[in-house]
Amino acid sequence: MSDLLERLRDRGWRMTAQRRVVAEVLDGEHVHLTAEEVHARAIARLPEISRATVYNTLGEMVTIGEILEVATDGRAKRYDPNAHRPHQHLVCSSCGTIRDVHPQGDPLSALPAGERFGFAVSAVEVTYRGLCPDCAR
Ligand SMILES: [Zn+2]
Ligand SMILES: [Zn+2]
Repeated sequence: MSDLLERLRDRGWRMTAQRRVVAEVLDGEHVHLTAEEVHARAIARLPEISRATVYNTLGEMVTIGEILEVATDGRAKRYDPNAHRPHQHLVCSSCGTIRDVHPQGDPLSALPAGERFGFAVSAVEVTYRGLCPDCAR
């Protein structure tokens, strides 16, 4: 069973065939798929699954915090099943490939108190940009 599927089961999320397929498609390392890509892969397993069902299921999984929505400038939002291990992203500015990376140290503590403006800071998103090895050639 996939990690995401297992997490959804554990929290008692009502599992339908459609939800199961969406969760299966989103499993693995470095997975950052657009809703269209999720739909295309879901159809290969469950031909009758509609685009609306895929979008709704993704939205619900984001709401309950089991997947992350990753915004990459100018490109379609991507969905990331790696929601429980804090990580940042390395993004290729040419082809859009995304890798999960784990910078050393706590990025939250990297912001000096004087730059917090009284905010109770709870999350950090860091995006490292550049060219992937294929695009750098
Ligand atoms: Zn690239
Ligand atoms: Zn990620």
